[in-house]
Amino acid sequence: MTLKYLNYDVAVIGGGAAGIAAAIAAAKNGSRTILVEAGPIFGGELLSGMSIDGVLNGRGEWIIRGVAEEIFEECRKMDALIGPLHDFRLICYVCVDPEIMKIAIMRVLDRYNVTPALYTQVSDVVTDGDTVRSVVLTHKNQRTVLSAKYFIDASGDGDVAMMAGAPTELSDASGDLQPLSLMFRMSGVENEPFLRFVRDNAASLAVGESEAVRAGRTDEELAQAIYDQGEPTVFFRGNGPFLGGAIQRGEVAPTALIMIMPTSKARKEVCVNATRVAENINGVNALDVSRVVSRLMEQVWSTVNFLKERCPGFENASFAGMAPRVGIRETRRVMGEYVLSGDEAAKAVKQRDVITKGAHHIDIHQDGTRQVRIPIADGGSYDIPFGCLIPKNVRNLLTAGRCISTDRIANGTTRMMGQCMGTGHAAGAAAAMCIAAGHDDVRKLAVSALQGRLREQGAVLDGTH
Ligand SMILES: Cc1cc2nc3c(=O)[nH]c(=O)nc-3n(C[C@H](O)[C@H](O)[C@H](O)COP(=O)(O)OP(=O)(O)OC[C@H]3O[C@@H](n4cnc5c(N)ncnc54)[C@H](O)[C@@H]3O)c2cc1C
Repeated sequence: MTLKYLNYDVAVIGGGAAGIAAAIAAAKNGSRTILVEAGPIFGGELLSGMSIDGVLNGRGEWIIRGVAEEIFEECRKMDALIGPLHDFRLICYVCVDPEIMKIAIMRVLDRYNVTPALYTQVSDVVTDGDTVRSVVLTHKNQRTVLSAKYFIDASGDGDVAMMAGAPTELSDASGDLQPLSLMFRMSGVENEPFLRFVRDNAASLAVGESEAVRAGRTDEELAQAIYDQGEPTVFFRGNGPFLGGAIQRGEVAPTALIMIMPTSKARKEVCVNATRVAENINGVNALDVSRVVSRLMEQVWSTVNFLKERCPGFENASFAGMAPRVGIRETRRVMGEYVLSGDEAAKAVKQRDVITKGAHHIDIHQDGTRQVRIPIADGGSYDIPFGCLIPKNVRNLLTAGRCISTDRIANGTTRMMGQCMGTGHAAGAAAAMCIAAGHDDVRKLAVSALQGRLREQGAVLDGTH
């Protein structure tokens, strides 16, 4: 195998929501940037078809803008953005067409001259004391030593931070890991009969789980509000009559919720989040994940049939495809200079060192029909401090996305795509600012300077609940 060498200012590893935002932000702030992705396309879980949660709080105030907004704007231009929408349960979100999202991502990366490195896995790290000098890239026909001044670990799994010697955590004392799921889409769904069925079956829905969202309304009034909103944004409860009955009859596998959200008006298409294998599988163990793929696919197919046979509006709908890969909710968290707690998130605590915000309820899926859903106080938002992005023991490395420094409970909310984009924006801007200032340690960057830059670039750091 030949060995090649590359040199960049900033190397971002992982091309999901966090890595895309980080690469755009680093480039936008003046750094020569490369984005490394193991798969054949950028997007990660952004391409699953799921709603992009955590960009608004439960009251409908935007809390994530900046770089994320540039990607949404690109989607909007191609008629691929739906929302903001209320779920009348706990949150507000936007929905995107995952097929068009692929194009939107490439357009924004190209606009900022980010160098793409697809089909490329980081398999090793070269350190010099507590500085990362290079990462080793493995491609099909060669290996490349990629050197950079700053590295951003947006791998979801904290691969780079772990290899560089930062401490990581997996689960907590419970030893539990969230289930694996496989998203799928159905097209040709007729909205009106579907939403009429929803309106008339309030007892089958998850609604009004936060007082701020319920606002004194009955379940029936909230079901009517879903109907009036006019979009297929529906959460059937695993312990409600409609879905619970199907689980009892063995028509679908046990699940806490069937979550349905729109992806394309043109195709009358929805994304369905319904499947789960909850066996505490560690998503970094490829063979363990591979073992459950066929089981998840069978769950997909039985849910397709259940919806077609039992759910008004789906009678003539068609299976329209699956997410590009099995969804992994929880692996390593990289321990950093600050560890955000679930308590701080749930209480909507504001912090001096804020670099982005979160607002999605704490969402920890479990086995069977169990799931922890803890609302954020008052339908508001909590702050994520800069220290959550700075791994311990390493000078020139930041994290962004699912693997940032939190406890397991807080990870149940910071893992949302909105927060991945928000932490990505902050990490990319911070890396570029450190390079411009000649800092050899990210800790030398004044948080106030970073906050000023992020505000200039549209990030929301204050002024919301
Ligand atoms: C089943 C499921 C349902 C969810 N539902 C929602 C929802 O409705 N709304 C919401 O907002 N969020 C949801 N989430 C959470 C959210 O989708 C993810 O936590 C988030 O997208 C993670 O973004 P990320 O950029 O950190 O990681 P990812 O999107 O996982 O991207 C990481 C990328 O890094 C690449 N990579 C990993 N290791 C390496 C390496 N060593 N070298 C090179 N590349 C590497 C991967 O291929 C991947 O593309 C859900 C998650 C799952 C799994």
